[in-house]
Order: sequence, then structure tokens, then C-alpha cells
Amino acid sequence: MSDPAFSLCVYCGSKPGNQEAFTQSAIQVGTWIGQHGGQLVYGGGRNGLMGTVAEATMLAGGRVIGVIPRALVEKEWARTECTELHIVETMHERKQMMAEKADAFIALPGGIGTFEEFYEVWTWRQLGYHNKPIGLLNLNGYYDSMLSFLNAVVAHEFMGSWQMDLIRTESDPQKLLPRLIQEAGLPTPFLSQAI
Ligand code: AMP
Repeated sequence: MSDPAFSLCVYCGSKPGNQEAFTQSAIQVGTWIGQHGGQLVYGGGRNGLMGTVAEATMLAGGRVIGVIPRALVEKEWARTECTELHIVETMHERKQMMAEKADAFIALPGGIGTFEEFYEVWTWRQLGYHNKPIGLLNLNGYYDSMLSFLNAVVAHEFMGSWQMDLIRTESDPQKLLPRLIQEAGLPTPFLSQAI
């Protein structure tokens, strides 16, 4: 198998959420990765949107790298048929490995695990630990209230607008995904069809 065209780390809920649209967006993201010769890096489980995005990627012919702490193998129902499944000892190792293997990051709707991972790569970026693009899929306004709060943080001068400029926010995965790959400096032969 040839090397993947890009490696995208997806953070998303270990639950499906209460709208079919969340699952559909996870399918869209996974399918897009697979159809464009990419590789998914994710938490390695079968539950919720995480499982959906992995299954869609594989169905579309993409590689899937799962990284899961040993203690969560049963709880998150590790996806043993990933192209590569890495069982690590700690959550820190998981996040470190996921971040190292990715060219870009995207957060889909999710809960506090998703937020934690998204905020971590964002804070690492603001500190200059990496320079990889970070996207937030604001599907059906799921993240509107979080974005309002973050704008309030800027207004209260606890961060600058430059920090907000480090993340890309879109409601449509078909717009967000090519943009992240482009910003990662990778070839984007698909760009003219997508935007
Ligand atoms: P959630 O968005 O809460 O459904 O969690 C999504 C994923 O984030 C799951 O795979 C969790 O194992 C993972 N997660 C939960 N807590 C943390 C954490 N502190 N650091 C990194 N990942 C976490």
C-alpha cells in the first residue's frame, strides 16, 4: 500500500449524540479521508462518533490508526481491525502519539474528552510546540455557545484574537477538510472540486 496522502487526527464523541446529523457528519469525514487517500488517527474505539468515523474511513479505503490506553480497551471497545492499533499505557501517551502521527487535527461534536483533546492541541499550537492546522466542525451550531464564550474571553483580554485565528471553524466538513490539508502544506489535487 502506498503512503497516505495525509494523516488527519479526529477528535469526537464516544457517544453518538442526539441528532442523526452528528453521525452523518462523522460518516462524511471518514469517507472523505478514505476517498482522498488519507489516513485517520483517532482514539481507537468503536463507540459513538469515534467508531463511526473509523468505520467510514475503512469502508472508503483509508488507513486507520487507533491509539488507545490499555485501561480503556474494554470500556471503549477497541477496534482491533484498525490498520494499526496501538495500545499504550497512559492517556498522555495516547494524546502524544496521536498528535505526532497527525498532519492536522479536527474536532467534531463530542463531550469533555473531545474538548480536552481539542484544547490541548490548540494550547500546544499557541505555545509553538507544533504548527499543524486545527479545525472545529461546528455542525448545526453545536459549538456556537463555546465560540461565544471564547469571544468573551478575547473581549475580557484573557487571550488575543490571534489565538482565535489559530483555529478554523466551519459547519461543512467538505469545506473544512480540504482547507486543513492545504494549510498543512500538503498537495491538494481535490481542492478545485471541493471549494
Ligand atoms: P468524549 O468526547 O467525552 O465522549 O470523549 C471522547 C474521547 O476522548 C474518548 O476516547 C475518551 O477516552 C477521550 N478522553 C476522555 N478524557 C480524556 C482526557 N483527559 N484526555 C484525552 N482524551 C480523553
